[in-house]
Amino acid sequence: MSATARKTLRTPTDIIDAQLVGRDRLTTLEQVAARYAVAITPALADLIDPSDPHDPMARQFVPDARELHMEPGESHDPIGDEAHSPVEGIVHRYPDRVLLKLVNACAVYCRFCFRREMVGPGRGGLAPAALDQAFAYIAGHPEIWEVILTGGDPLVLSARRLKEVVTRLAAIAHVKVIRVHTRVPVAAPERVTAALARALRTSKATFVVLHANHPRELTAKVRAACARLIDAGIPMLAQSVLLRGVNDDAATLGALLRALVECRIKPYYLHHADLAPGTAHLRTTIAEGQALMRALHGRYSGLCQPTYVLDIPGGHGKSAIGPNYLSADGAVIEDYRGRRHAYAATASAAEKNTAVSNS
Ligand code: SF4
Repeated sequence: MSATARKTLRTPTDIIDAQLVGRDRLTTLEQVAARYAVAITPALADLIDPSDPHDPMARQFVPDARELHMEPGESHDPIGDEAHSPVEGIVHRYPDRVLLKLVNACAVYCRFCFRREMVGPGRGGLAPAALDQAFAYIAGHPEIWEVILTGGDPLVLSARRLKEVVTRLAAIAHVKVIRVHTRVPVAAPERVTAALARALRTSKATFVVLHANHPRELTAKVRAACARLIDAGIPMLAQSVLLRGVNDDAATLGALLRALVECRIKPYYLHHADLAPGTAHLRTTIAEGQALMRALHGRYSGLCQPTYVLDIPGGHGKSAIGPNYLSADGAVIEDYRGRRHAYAATASAAEKNTAVSNS
């Protein structure tokens, strides 16, 4: 493991001084850092094994020369946030919910980030006037049932600021659910204090969705941080990104999903990696992702099963991308061992079956 890092590593020199990579990579790291934000917290630096050239933690957080190569189809806004942003800080893509992007900073900068062109230190967050405008938008749209706090990472804000935001949201009668998307419990578990957990509680249903991609991320400190939230009455879900060389094998992915459930965190989405610039080396194919989902199906508890989704480029929203176990005509269903079974799919056939069994 690395020499224990005491502070967040924010420059190539910091990363080299922490002995996470050799000094021979300084120039490359500087080129990548000039393009995309870099930060590796002490908690994550301690998980990186510099002796392993394929270390799954390093792949997620240490800059890589391949990030400088943009592939055809990659986009600076791969999930089309901009096309659905009626006012600054709001993304209104689906009828009943909005994203509220409070801040553009994160505790750690993931090398595969789908908002990598928008996040970084010094990019600030919503100014007070813009925040007022965002709240006015939510208040003026009674169809908004759920507000998702995202960014960046909203949990880099102080407990006091978060309390102000969730209290204002909870005061809007038609907002019934508040969801917080975060990587902070993994990246900086010490930030998840009892005070932060109390700050997030409101009169409305509030969920925290943890972003975690590898079972090694769920250290004892991370598990304790999540337990503080859950014990404070905040249910937790998890989303993971399918990443080549990180979690693209059934044993690793299964171990992650089980570890999450053991922490009382329900795996929610497995994201196919978005077409963010410079991330091709971390993307799998969809066929590979579907094969992984098949490998998990039936062999791991239903509690461990996320929905495998693709955010359709251009801002068209997420769709589940299988695999599909039912034939197109509904007449054949496949079990988890791959065996096929005839199924009487139509209502009339079901009635016929009932009639037969009653006779
Ligand atoms: S924490 Fe989320 S928003 Fe921040 S860099 Fe990682 S993936 Fe991107």
